[in-house]
Amino acid sequence: MERNGSIEIICGPMFAGKSEEIIRRVRRMEYAKKKVICFKPGIDNRYSQDEIVSHNQSKKKSYVISSSKDIYKYLDDDVYSIVIDEVQFLDMGIISVIEDLASKGIRVIVGGLDLDFRGEPFTVTMEILARAEKVTKLSAICVRCGNEATRTQRIINGIPAFYEDEIIQIGAFEKYEPRCRYCHEVPHKEEIVKESK
Ligand SMILES: [Zn+2]
Repeated sequence: MERNGSIEIICGPMFAGKSEEIIRRVRRMEYAKKKVICFKPGIDNRYSQDEIVSHNQSKKKSYVISSSKDIYKYLDDDVYSIVIDEVQFLDMGIISVIEDLASKGIRVIVGGLDLDFRGEPFTVTMEILARAEKVTKLSAICVRCGNEATRTQRIINGIPAFYEDEIIQIGAFEKYEPRCRYCHEVPHKEEIVKESK
């Protein structure tokens, strides 16, 4: 059995270049004639349904999956690597899927947000971070002060999103920007976190 499987994760906030880094790794493997299969969850439709697309428009064809178990449908014996972008949107089953594939000798590369707009960890990403052989944490640049940005600021109708705002708000004008720890704003966070203790 092949013993060169592993899990690599590329995490960080939006605008840190995660998808570009994934595409770079895919290209390197493809130059070496390795078979790579890419996946992304169906929920991420920012640019394109069936491609991993970075903000600078590099692209890589990928299969859209709605459940982590769907990955098995696309695998065959000569797969060298599987790549999953936006992993934070997948179900928790992805943990056992990637552990299984890495144990079978596949190089697993995943990308995703480590923190949600509230500045709290996505459970899926957190689990993978702990299990990965190789962790790459990228940062962006804070639009307010120029510090290293590790958080994603969510803005709804022109003001910072509240802690209790729903993840998806229909009809609201939303945007996101990279911010540092000091400039990241989450109104109501302290009150709600205190109450729940
Ligand atoms: Zn800042």
